[in-house]
Amino acid sequence: MPRPIEALVHLDALAANLAAARSAVAGAKVWAVVKADAYGHGIGNVYPALKGADGFALLDIGDAELVRDLGWRGPILLLEGCFEPRDLDTCSRLHLWHTVHQPAQIDWLAAHKTERPHRVFLKLNSGMNRLGFGVDAYRAAWLRLDALPQVGEITLMTHLANADASDAASLDAALAAFAAATAELPGERSICNSAATLRFGASLGAGAGDWVRPGIMLYGSSPDHPRHSAADWQLQPAMTLKSELIAVQALAAGASVGYGSSYTAGRAMRIGVVACGYADGYPRVAPGSNENGTPVLVDGVRTRTVGRVSMDMITVDLTPVPDARIGSDVVLWGRAAGGAVLSVDEIAHAAGTVGYELMCARAPRVPVRVVGG
Ligand SMILES: *Cc1c(COP(=O)(O)O)cnc(C)c1O
Repeated sequence: MPRPIEALVHLDALAANLAAARSAVAGAKVWAVVKADAYGHGIGNVYPALKGADGFALLDIGDAELVRDLGWRGPILLLEGCFEPRDLDTCSRLHLWHTVHQPAQIDWLAAHKTERPHRVFLKLNSGMNRLGFGVDAYRAAWLRLDALPQVGEITLMTHLANADASDAASLDAALAAFAAATAELPGERSICNSAATLRFGASLGAGAGDWVRPGIMLYGSSPDHPRHSAADWQLQPAMTLKSELIAVQALAAGASVGYGSSYTAGRAMRIGVVACGYADGYPRVAPGSNENGTPVLVDGVRTRTVGRVSMDMITVDLTPVPDARIGSDVVLWGRAAGGAVLSVDEIAHAAGTVGYELMCARAPRVPVRVVGG
C-alpha cells in the first residue's frame, strides 16, 4: 500500500469560486489565472471546472500549449509576455495574447513575421516596480505598438502592489497612475487580481476594468487573510491535503515529542503520528510547541500539532478525539469527509506565510485525485 497521503482537487469548489469571481465584478470578463501549474492543483486537473472562464492566464509557453491541447480555443494570456523572440512564433501559431512590459518586447514584435496581428496587453508599472512601463513612458510605448502591423488590439493593463493592504492610499495612487497613463487611450482595461476583485470590484464598478485576473480566490484561499477569511468571502477550498494516522502513542506527563523535544506533555495524553511531513509540502516552520500548535482535523475534529514537523511525519494531540486510532482520517488543510473545513490560510498564517505558497509547494510525491463534478 502506498503512503496514505494524497491531495484532493475539488471541481465543485473551483466552479463555485469562479462564479464568485464573476459575480464580484458585474460585466467584467474573467481570466482564470493558472500559473504555477494552477497554484499546485495541476492545470489538467482544474481545466474541467475552470473552462467556464473567459480565458486562461499563465506564464509558460508550455502551459499554453497544454491548455490548447486540452481543447481550449478561447483566449490565453501570457502574463509575463515573451521571454525571447522565437516565443512570438508560438504566439502566432497558438493565437496567444501576450503582455508587453519592456521595450525589447516591442523590438521583437517589430521584427516578427505574422499573418495575423497579435493581441497584446500593455503593462503599466503603477508602483510595484517589477514589470511594466512607467507612467511617463507608457503612451510612447502604446504609440509604437499601435503603429506596428504585427499588433492588433491593445489592452491597457496594470498589476496592483497593495490591493490586499489595509490603507486605501497606495491603491488610490496606483489607480490614479493608471488613469493618468491611459487617459484617452482606446482599448479594454485589466487591473484587478483576486484581492482587488473581491474588495473593490463592486465599488469600482466600470473602473474595475473589462478583464479581471483572479488567481488565488479560485483555489479557495483568501487574498487578504487574516482580515477576511476564505469563509468571509464565501470561497471553498479547492485542495484538500489529507492523510491518516499511522501510529498512536500514549505519553506520560513529562514526556516529549519529536526532534528537539519542542513539546512536553504536561499530563498523560495520546498523540497521533500522521503520514505527512515537510517533504510532502507541509511547512516545517508550522509551530508545535507547548505555547503554539498548528490546527489540524482528525476524523473531522479540530486539534493541533505537537512537536516539530519532520520530513515524513507530524504529530498531533488526540485529546479532543478519544476514538482516533491508526487509520483515522487527517486533514492538513481543506475539507474533511463530514464537511468540516480547515482553510489553508490558517496553516499558512501559523507558519508565517500565505496560502499561495503552501498550495504551490505540494510535493510531487503527493498524488492528486480529482473529485466532485
Ligand atoms: C498572479 C497574477 C494574478 C493573480 O493574482 P492573485 O493574487 O492570485 O489573484 C493577476 N495578475 C497578474 C499579472 C499575476 O501575475
